[in-house]
Amino acid sequence: MPKYVEPISRLITELSKLPGIGPKTAQRLAFYILTMPRDEVVRLAESMLDARTKTRQCSVCFDITVDDPCAVCSSPDRDHSIICVVEQPKDVVAIERTGEYKGLYHVLHGVLSPMDGIGPGDIKLKELISRLKDPVKEVIVATDPNVEGEATALYIAKIARTIGVKTTRLAHGLPVGGDLEYADEVTLSRALEGRREI
Ligand SMILES: [Zn+2]
Repeated sequence: MPKYVEPISRLITELSKLPGIGPKTAQRLAFYILTMPRDEVVRLAESMLDARTKTRQCSVCFDITVDDPCAVCSSPDRDHSIICVVEQPKDVVAIERTGEYKGLYHVLHGVLSPMDGIGPGDIKLKELISRLKDPVKEVIVATDPNVEGEATALYIAKIARTIGVKTTRLAHGLPVGGDLEYADEVTLSRALEGRREI
C-alpha cells in the first residue's frame, strides 16, 4: 500500500482493525473522513468514545447498559420468573423487537465450543447458574440453532434440571445454522411461543 502522511496512515491503520474493514475500505473511509465537515467528524469521534466509555455490562444479566443494573433487570413490570439466555447483546435487541417477551435476559457472551477451546469458564455460565433460584422457574435458551448453540442449551438444561428449573428451547422455524439476530420479528415471536422443554 502506498505511504500516506502520518495522520492519514494512522487513521487507515486504526480503521482497518475494525471487523469487515479491509485495507482498501479503510483507505476509502479515511479519505471520505477528510472531506467531511469538521463538526461531523467531531460527532463521529465523540459518539465512538461515548459508546465505549459510558456503557458497561449489567452486573446481573451482562447485557450492555448505561445504568447498573439495567432497565430490564430493575423493572418491576418484567416477569422475573423467566430468563431468556442469549449469546450476544444484539440478540436481546432482536427479541425485544418482537414486543412479545416480558421476562428477563442473560447474555452469555459466547457459546460452548470445545473445538475453539471455549469452555464453561470462558462464558457467563456460572453467573447464569447462580441466578437459577427463586423466583426463577424457567430458562429459555435462545442460542443460535447450530452445533455450539445446541450443545450449550443441553449443558444448561442438565444443570437447571438438578436445581428444579425448567429449560425450554426456541421452536424450530428459525433457520438452522442461522443467526438469531437476522430472524424477522414474526418468526422469532412464533419460535418463542412454540418453545419446548428440553
Ligand atoms: Zn441486566
